[in-house]
Amino acid sequence: MEPVHIIGAGLAGSEAAWQIAQAGVPVVLHEMRPTVETFAHRTGDCAEMVCSNSFRSDDDQMNAVGQLHWEMRAADGLIMAMADKHRLPAGGALAVDRDAFSAAVTAVLQGHPLVSFAPGEITDLPTEGRWIVATGPLTSAALGQSILQATGEGALAFFDAIAPIVHADSIDMQVCWLQSRYDKGETEEERTAYINCPMTKADYEGFIDALLAADKAEFREGETAGYFDGCLPIEVMAERGRETLRHGPMKPVGLTNAHNPTEKAYAVVQLRRDNALGTLYNIVGFQTKMKYGAQTEVFRRIPGLQNASFARLGGIHRNTFLNSPLLIDDRLRLRARPNLRFAGQVTGVEGYVESAAMGLLAGRMAAAEALGRDLPPPSPATSMGALVNHITGGADAKTFQPMNVNFGLYPPLDDIRGGRRGRKDRYPAYTDRAKADFRAWLATQ
Ligand SMILES: Cc1cc2nc3c(=O)[nH]c(=O)nc-3n(C[C@H](O)[C@H](O)[C@H](O)COP(=O)(O)OP(=O)(O)OC[C@H]3O[C@@H](n4cnc5c(N)ncnc54)[C@H](O)[C@@H]3O)c2cc1C
Repeated sequence: MEPVHIIGAGLAGSEAAWQIAQAGVPVVLHEMRPTVETFAHRTGDCAEMVCSNSFRSDDDQMNAVGQLHWEMRAADGLIMAMADKHRLPAGGALAVDRDAFSAAVTAVLQGHPLVSFAPGEITDLPTEGRWIVATGPLTSAALGQSILQATGEGALAFFDAIAPIVHADSIDMQVCWLQSRYDKGETEEERTAYINCPMTKADYEGFIDALLAADKAEFREGETAGYFDGCLPIEVMAERGRETLRHGPMKPVGLTNAHNPTEKAYAVVQLRRDNALGTLYNIVGFQTKMKYGAQTEVFRRIPGLQNASFARLGGIHRNTFLNSPLLIDDRLRLRARPNLRFAGQVTGVEGYVESAAMGLLAGRMAAAEALGRDLPPPSPATSMGALVNHITGGADAKTFQPMNVNFGLYPPLDDIRGGRRGRKDRYPAYTDRAKADFRAWLATQ
């Protein structure tokens, strides 16, 4: 049988290789490290964790990433099995001994009779055979250019400039109102596409002071080149002048406060819908290098966001990722070149676990295809399915930015939301439904 080839033996590529081999299909892993290095990796091992040693919450009742752990364990995931084996005490989080973890993943793959290694950098997207591209946020420059040629200008990003994303149900609509600037739009939905948070002069001055004083993360060497043009961090804008933001993303023009139409806001923070479900909103133009703790503190000063719950916080990073909603189908294939699947962070998911999960799925789909079957993704009411649904259609291609798994990606539970019950009831209901749907998906294979 022709092997499936995988480019990149990171979190996603390693998991994909395991899933393919376990399905009885031969697989070849092409990894460029340690011959070609990245600025973040240190070793030549598979599945190296480049920064923190945590897979985040392991709570599969109350947390969407914990639920994703559950799904990967249920699907015989190698990354979860080795993480469990090398787990360190970390309260409710799943933290691992990173070196032992990567060494174990490497040893298991090296010992598998259907896995072979072909060390070296792949510089061009292959045209023949069945391939999975899992080259991650630090995809080599040559391959990045080749992907760009295949997908077109603007379809591949080299940085993410992420504005924070807020759960819609945590926004105080007694303070905020729905309106697009100058009521622009053909339909009522378009004319009310933004959530607006009004600021008085005192609110604005206090906000700028907090922004200037906040703790910021340093850029790593080699990280900054090229990002500055279109997406200045808000704190850099504030440093350029106290009024800069009021003439930029916080300008109050073309908006009338529905709760107080006669009073003109001094500045307005706008949030734009981030997913088709309308459960997530991003704060427009608020990309930032503030540290996470500082972001929560500073953004909760915005009127209407005092109780905001964040699906993800802002950031600016070196990150190669596709505009997947435009380019990838729900079988994780490049629409224009269906012999190529993409997996991991390069598909626009964010995080070790999410990346490994996309590897798991791409691996299972590629193996099924090699065996003459078609494997659809799991239901969007599972963590894995919610991620695929988001990157291949749920997210808006125009503003697509990488995403962690979170309950905002899940289809709402009408009965429970309708009853206005709190998270304590809603989250276990989400994860119970996810487990049932995921078991049903596994049973089809
Ligand atoms: C600096 C930094 C810090 C991060 N910190 C965290 C964190 O703390 N927590 C978290 O959850 N996530 C973090 N991430 C995100 C994290 O990298 C990803 O979540 C995860 O590693 C992505 O998995 P992946 O398999 O998609 O990519 P990777 O794990 O990066 O694997 C991709 C592999 O492809 C190889 N490769 C690239 N190009 C080629 C080529 N042309 N030919 C052959 N091989 C190639 C690379 O060497 C690498 O081994 C961080 C990312 C970066 C860049």
